[in-house]
Amino acid sequence: MTFLRTLVWFVLLVVAMIAAVWLAERPGLVTVQWQGWRLDTSVGIVLITIVALCVVSALLYALWRWLRGAPSTVFDIWGESRRRKGYRALTQGMVAVAAGDGVEAQRNARLAEKLLEEPPLTRLLSAQAAQLAGDRDAAQRYFAAMLDDPQMAFLGLRGLLMQSLKDGDSSKALAYAEQAFQRRPDTPWVVRSLFDMQARAGKWREAQETLQVGLKRKIVDPERGRTLNALLLVERSRAAERGGADEDAIDHAKAAVALAPDREPVAYRYAELLIKRGDGRKAQKAIERTWPASPHPDLAQLYLAAVGEKDPLKRVQALNRLTASNADDLDSRIALARECLEARLWGEARRHLVAAGAERSDAPTRLCRLMADLEEQEYGDGEKVRQWLSRAADSPGDRQWRCRSCAAVHDRWQAVCDSCGAFGTAEWRMPPPSAQAVAAAAATSTLRLRPEQEILPPEPPPAEKTPAASPTPASMAPSSS
Ligand SMILES: [Zn+2]
Repeated sequence: MTFLRTLVWFVLLVVAMIAAVWLAERPGLVTVQWQGWRLDTSVGIVLITIVALCVVSALLYALWRWLRGAPSTVFDIWGESRRRKGYRALTQGMVAVAAGDGVEAQRNARLAEKLLEEPPLTRLLSAQAAQLAGDRDAAQRYFAAMLDDPQMAFLGLRGLLMQSLKDGDSSKALAYAEQAFQRRPDTPWVVRSLFDMQARAGKWREAQETLQVGLKRKIVDPERGRTLNALLLVERSRAAERGGADEDAIDHAKAAVALAPDREPVAYRYAELLIKRGDGRKAQKAIERTWPASPHPDLAQLYLAAVGEKDPLKRVQALNRLTASNADDLDSRIALARECLEARLWGEARRHLVAAGAERSDAPTRLCRLMADLEEQEYGDGEKVRQWLSRAADSPGDRQWRCRSCAAVHDRWQAVCDSCGAFGTAEWRMPPPSAQAVAAAAATSTLRLRPEQEILPPEPPPAEKTPAASPTPASMAPSSS
């Protein structure tokens, strides 16, 4: 390259020298006459003047180009510093959001919005800052504006979904969840939220479809998925029965039993429908299958209804048959003790109650009450009855339908927890360990940050957070028991 350039220069030099020699050998005069002026000069001077003019104009052109380019360089430097300041404001705003400082976050959001011409970035910060500062309408506006940007639309939907949940507008929340699901059916919180909202809205079939997606994409544990599917079928069976479609009702119940034969609500539904159509034998078989895993007083009563026996002794015999597979369970003992009391088999009733732990200091409420009934009926001993009733009042509790998600207690099994809205979280179990034990356990973990405390995506401020506003409900979480 360098060699080539040197060669070119060399050739030019030679040409110039030849030209100079050629001109020197042929001297001549140039005369210019113009408007009464007359200029006489040699050819050499004219040529030198032309070359000089060329050089001067080339220099002038270079100067003009530099002058024209200079201001944009100045603007570039200025713009760069503006952008840098903008990004700093954005970063500080995000830090403020993470720290829960709404005022600081909003100040930085406004600054970033002014300095940066990147609405997608600044809108998210502005929306979060507005949420933190409790400015619901502004947050809503920012999230809605994010829907226009294909890259930010998903986050916008999430913001709007959370907002609707907080407002208690479940139909709007469901619509946003459906849109989010269309965009990203792989995102776990989307699948979970959509499932919960569909279940809450009583859209059992749609919830089943969402559950299938969750299972296919491994968002739901297969075991939990089977249980949820069975419980959805129980609800579909109820809906079919209400609509007069008894055949569909029993088909759904049968399908539910095939999926989760060990779940009390599932067995109860199926047996109930079998009894309704006069198939007591089959109903007994269904309950007998479930008893080892899920004994429950309602199932015992339904079993007696399926047996259709009025004689108290024969009823005790029937229960003996049912409970034999799980004889030592609290609910087996309680069911038998109850029927023994009805049959006036005092000794047998006492045996079951004591075996179940009635004499222990932490005896469950039902055992204490049944002991009071026994003392009353067998001996009419008022003092003992009072003692047992007072023990019942002090009892640490008993098995009840408890929501696994929010710990609310319900009188009857319910598919959707009316306290937190989670689906399929009701479990027949003892209360959790005493409040003191829970407090002691919590004290050791107070200072630990929870993993969900991320900057993104937006969360409502802790003070306003309600269980229903959680984007990831507990319905699909695998069973803890
Ligand atoms: Zn709940």
